[in-house]
Amino acid sequence: MQGAEHDRGVTTETSAPAVRQARRLVTPIPGPKSVELMARKTSAVASGVGTTMPVFTAHAGGGLLEDVDGNILIDLGSGIAVTTVGAAEPRVVAAVQEQVAAFTHTCFMVTPYEGYVAVAEHLNRLTPGDHEKRTALFNSGAEAVENAVKIARHHTGKDAVVVFDHAYHGRTNLTMAMTAKSMPYKHGFGPFASEVYRAPLSYPYRDGGLDGATAAARAIDVIEKQVGADNLAAVVIEPIQGEGGFIVPAAGFLSALAAWCTANGVVFVADEVQSGFARTGAMFACEHDGVVPDLIVTAKGIAGGLPLSAVTGRAEMMDAVHVGGLGGTYGGNPIACAAALAVIETIEADGLVERARQIEELVVGRLRAIGERDSRIGDVRGRGAMLAVELVEAGTDTPDPVLAKEIATRSHAEGVIVLTCGTYGNVLRFLPPLSITDEQLDEAFDVVEAALAAAGQ
Ligand SMILES: *Cc1c(COP(=O)(O)O)cnc(C)c1O
Repeated sequence: MQGAEHDRGVTTETSAPAVRQARRLVTPIPGPKSVELMARKTSAVASGVGTTMPVFTAHAGGGLLEDVDGNILIDLGSGIAVTTVGAAEPRVVAAVQEQVAAFTHTCFMVTPYEGYVAVAEHLNRLTPGDHEKRTALFNSGAEAVENAVKIARHHTGKDAVVVFDHAYHGRTNLTMAMTAKSMPYKHGFGPFASEVYRAPLSYPYRDGGLDGATAAARAIDVIEKQVGADNLAAVVIEPIQGEGGFIVPAAGFLSALAAWCTANGVVFVADEVQSGFARTGAMFACEHDGVVPDLIVTAKGIAGGLPLSAVTGRAEMMDAVHVGGLGGTYGGNPIACAAALAVIETIEADGLVERARQIEELVVGRLRAIGERDSRIGDVRGRGAMLAVELVEAGTDTPDPVLAKEIATRSHAEGVIVLTCGTYGNVLRFLPPLSITDEQLDEAFDVVEAALAAAGQ
């Protein structure tokens, strides 16, 4: 139960050793034990599997992560938006322990269990729209995106799929085709699945602030001319882009696209793998634009770190598929379902949607103030606890990936986990667990601010 103790220890004064309450560096980063483990990794693990930081984890929870050398880092990454409720949330730990002792697996397609059904019921309740819904569970975000495409194709009897510039949908063959960026995700891995077409996104910082309706009309024109609604099964879009750079489309963009889809018999699919589950200060990011997707894809934050993903959507679309057409050996694994139920309970009981909004208020003001003084910050954007700065050469809009990397590296050395992203690699993204304290957030952004000041000097 060390992890659970740790999680409580970082949020209260009374449990767990006091040293676990704050960032603490006792060795250089990485410390000697991490260096040793990294040498083993290099000789045992395929080098294509990279790591952001050369630091090995011992415990994590709340807003902190303790490494094998006893250093305590502040976590602004949540394992890429996964541990939204914390990496050892006590409810998740207890639910997993109870389930693992009851049974680990039966295969839902052989002898089903309640946890899967309960997760489906919650997803049907929590996702936007009060129409009749159904859910199917899978293991990874990419697998769920693939299944959303299967369902849309089956329902419409059409083949084509439209995705957007800067999109990221995963690393399997179909989702590589749907992902925009070649290096590192697609480079050398073709040929890719066919019938995937790319349309221009609304990217306010880089499209001259085109309003949402105009940006949507531009995208729809490309779709109509280059694909044709008669051939198009689905439009798949991240309501706030993740790996592509935390790009928030202009107001009205998503709703205009969704309306066009409805009018043209095209399934509108929201890929909320990164933006979902309270991350953006709403249960799902498409709620900010009042959009009700036909299908919504979730993963990452859904199960507190256990592998689980879902497609939730209109009953007539989901139920169009023949029996046996959807599934997989592990899809909706009972332990992952138990974790997801505990995550949903935690989000609702602890008011984490509201907490994400508070984090936005705390952090965005501060980032904007830095941006006023430092013209290397081209843009500050995001919602809730999904926030980013786009870095540029001072006073221009030329992307500066070297600066982003340097700030990240300096922050890492000071014990703050930050990630980069973006088509140009010039975006610093912040994805703190919603269990982080205000003090930890303040301290982490002190470090990031100092790293920016020191970078390039
Ligand atoms: C991470 C991500 C995926 C892929 O999820 P995996 O679980 O890594 O397969 C798909 N879409 C978006 C928006 C993501 O952020």
